[in-house]
Amino acid sequence: MRNLQGRLDLCSVNTATLGHREPLSVTIDRIAAAGFGGIAPWRHKVENANVAELARQIRAAGLNVTGYCRSTYLPAASRTQFAANIDANKAALRDAATLGARCFVMVVGGLPEGSRDLDGARAQVIEGIGELLETARDCGVPLALEPLHPMYAADRAVINTLAHALDICAELDPGRTGFLGVAVDVYHCWWDPALRASIARAGQEARLLAFHVCDWLRDTRDLLLDRGMMGDGVVDLAGMRGNVERAGYNGLIEVEIFSKENWWRRDPGEVLRICADRLQTVC
Ligand code: ZN
Repeated sequence: MRNLQGRLDLCSVNTATLGHREPLSVTIDRIAAAGFGGIAPWRHKVENANVAELARQIRAAGLNVTGYCRSTYLPAASRTQFAANIDANKAALRDAATLGARCFVMVVGGLPEGSRDLDGARAQVIEGIGELLETARDCGVPLALEPLHPMYAADRAVINTLAHALDICAELDPGRTGFLGVAVDVYHCWWDPALRASIARAGQEARLLAFHVCDWLRDTRDLLLDRGMMGDGVVDLAGMRGNVERAGYNGLIEVEIFSKENWWRRDPGEVLRICADRLQTVC
């Protein structure tokens, strides 16, 4: 397991952690100046700006793009909408390539409005990923399936465990081309009794594309926007990073904190300083 002391170059900041309050160009400079080695930007900030210019700025700042967030949800109530969702993801994959992203983060979507067809939604997800895989290869950007905690199955993602994501990878990419894998986010996966085995399997199958950290607060007040700072909650972060790295993960450790009432209200410079400290002391 790598020692993160003095190694912020092995750490990345997902820009959501700073609450999307400033232009991305400002955030890029902040993250680089704080000494981090990577950044994970979000589409709504990139798509409202000049992608090529942002890509140049990120490269000039010496930052790796650890992931591009995130996919348009795939399941749809109509074939027309499904096709539109695929097209939106293809466009995003091209931007991910321009940014030099190490992966395109796939939060695959929940049930279409009014639907009770969970199996159908999962079938659409498999079909959609299959279609996007070709574009991912053309663009040179792997798809990272991010299983979400099952509490989000209705509205955000019908892939809910790491094993589930790995099964889909095996089905769609049996040759292990390197263009389909998983993003392991501690917030979504920490509770899973099969997690250790699934992480080992992900390593054996060469699927580990990203590792996201934050913490699960025991007295969490909001199931989307009250993620904790590393060390403030119940997750054995060092244990999880050890498992992921023993499985072969050698990419950056990405901080991703959605925290409307706490961290998003604090000074961005302070948030980055505390992230840096916790990464080196509790992760
Ligand atoms: Zn994540």
